[in-house]
Amino acid sequence: MLTLAEKIIFTGIVLVTVGAFALPVVQRIRIMAAGRPERRWIAPWTQITGALTKVFFQRCTLRQERIATGVIHFFIFYSALSFDTMTLNHTLEGFFPGFFLFGSSPLGLAFSALIDAAAVLVLVGVAFLAFRRFVIRPKAYATTRGDSAVIYIALILVTLSYVYFEVLSIAEGHQPPRWSFIGTALSGLVQGSEISAAQVKLAWWVHILLVYGFIIYVPHSKYFHMFAGPANVLFGERRSGRRLRPLDIENSEVFGLEKAPDLTWKDSLDTFACMECGRCQDACPAFASDKPLSPKMVLFNLERHLLAGRKAIIAKDREALGPLCPDVHSPDEIWSCTTCGACQHVCPVEIEHIRKIVGVRQSEVLTHSRFPQELSAFFRNVETNSNPWGIGFSKRGEWAEGLDVPLIADRPGAEYLFWVGCAGSYDEEGKKSSRALASVLKAAGVDFAVLGPEEKCCGDSARRLGNEYLFQSLAAETMGLLARRKVKKIITLCPHGYNTLKNEYPVLAETLTSLPEEGRAWIKSIRVYHYVEVLDELLAQGRLPLNRLQASGLTFHDSCYLGRHNGLVNEPRRILQRIAGDGLLELGRNKEHSFCCGAGGGLMWTEEKLGRRINHLRAEEVIRSGAGAVVTSCPFCTTMLRDGLKDKTRPDIQVKDLAQMVAEATSGKN
Ligand code: SF4
Ligand code: SF4
Repeated sequence: MLTLAEKIIFTGIVLVTVGAFALPVVQRIRIMAAGRPERRWIAPWTQITGALTKVFFQRCTLRQERIATGVIHFFIFYSALSFDTMTLNHTLEGFFPGFFLFGSSPLGLAFSALIDAAAVLVLVGVAFLAFRRFVIRPKAYATTRGDSAVIYIALILVTLSYVYFEVLSIAEGHQPPRWSFIGTALSGLVQGSEISAAQVKLAWWVHILLVYGFIIYVPHSKYFHMFAGPANVLFGERRSGRRLRPLDIENSEVFGLEKAPDLTWKDSLDTFACMECGRCQDACPAFASDKPLSPKMVLFNLERHLLAGRKAIIAKDREALGPLCPDVHSPDEIWSCTTCGACQHVCPVEIEHIRKIVGVRQSEVLTHSRFPQELSAFFRNVETNSNPWGIGFSKRGEWAEGLDVPLIADRPGAEYLFWVGCAGSYDEEGKKSSRALASVLKAAGVDFAVLGPEEKCCGDSARRLGNEYLFQSLAAETMGLLARRKVKKIITLCPHGYNTLKNEYPVLAETLTSLPEEGRAWIKSIRVYHYVEVLDELLAQGRLPLNRLQASGLTFHDSCYLGRHNGLVNEPRRILQRIAGDGLLELGRNKEHSFCCGAGGGLMWTEEKLGRRINHLRAEEVIRSGAGAVVTSCPFCTTMLRDGLKDKTRPDIQVKDLAQMVAEATSGKN
């Protein structure tokens, strides 16, 4: 089709396009390569098959959060793949006249029909997305409207120019109709007009130049997620929020994320993979309560910072770069996160927000001693008395008075250690739950003991507030103690203790030099359960005699660290069903999609001064459900919901701890 001169020009255009596309891609790769190392190639086969399944079945976007957008994305994804193949076809056609992938074989005929179907789907999909973005204008989309507009216009122009070329080709006889149903139908409109080969060639040039222009634009836009997104899924760790990386306190010169070079390559990849969909922002309790935190903007601003500072990052010129806080993230932003994990749970490309936010907190706390003023008392209390209230550590076991609960020191072979936690030991309501759980375990004949005054704070809040030094000190002492006492199984009252002991101690144990080798192995072998798992099992085995409670109008609030971070959503519901019957009223956001109570991430110990209170939002949801009582399985959630309902003048809606309810049902008190 092209003359020799045109072929030479076209070759030049192809090379320029490849170069213009590759340059920003290489820049991003160099930024990542300059990042700190991180091992993410752990189980290659599982990672590859997992990523392929998620991408090709579009499990990333076909999810409950935005199902209509997910379906449209599915069609656009496959249409884009089809068009990419067709672009290859058109490019080769420039050099080899009449070239058509798969020729006139059945596959070639089907391919021609597929491309026409893709053209329709792209136009419909873009119309849907453009309507959403520019007419409905949800907050989640309020970042790069110009970028979106360019992408939509480019997709429309590329598609229409393809159809135009196809119509002229068929009408002129340059291309056999195959099964190109749109091209064939529309070519009827121009039949009778004299279509020349020059017009067909011009249409080809217009289409190919538009396509190449779009290819050059892609790496500068959020559309780049079509490459970085699958890569991020390949190296992703979906539940990384429940297991933060230990800092090397002894050997590090920098703690946490102070400047861009402190990010790992995966952190940088996260920023390039963001498609700015805003699903994370929609799910974020901090954003919903009008605080200055949007997980989407955390990523968006970080990406801008990396690209703007790329020369210094690649040259490893640390001095030339400003601090992440406050240059990229404001203090109010990073201290508003409850580490609830809702953002990560809904992110289609598995971006890990929490470790970036906590990483900045670590730098603020450990390097600069900058944190909300009220945390001074919290850190001091935990340091001196190993609990947030600063009550004497010797009083830790007083909750069990009169219950005849043995200390593990006196009963070294006990099957379970009951890890009571700070709230279960010192908070009045928490103590009731501890007593309830202890009495239920005794009623079921479970062999357990407690640490009593030897128990210390697990360190969850300290860690998520950025005080990794305090966390590691507490964890080292506790791990040494657990190993010395030869603890094999642990039952926890609190989901935060559960998560820390189960998911974080074994990882920390690997790196902690103060722990002897056999101690490390011991810690990794301990099995940790939250009480909902144990009670669910005991009830299933018929080991707890039950009197059904006359409770109706119950709803259940899933704690973030039990439900979303650890997937324990069915166990509490089964328990409730056994003790109170069917008819649980589900809250609007439930199970893995639950809405935070506001206490996670150590925010239990800070003043919630900005925006609305998160527990008020959740309390409103409880009120809307019409439930007469809300059941929880976390002492923090119990406190937050009770306060929230009181503030909302609905103290009549009871907040019940599940352990206390089971105790009531098993003791016959009703
Ligand atoms: S972890 Fe929760 S509070 Fe923090 S940014 Fe994500 S959604 Fe928001
Ligand atoms: S971080 Fe994930 S969920 Fe949030 S805007 Fe980016 S791609 Fe969407």
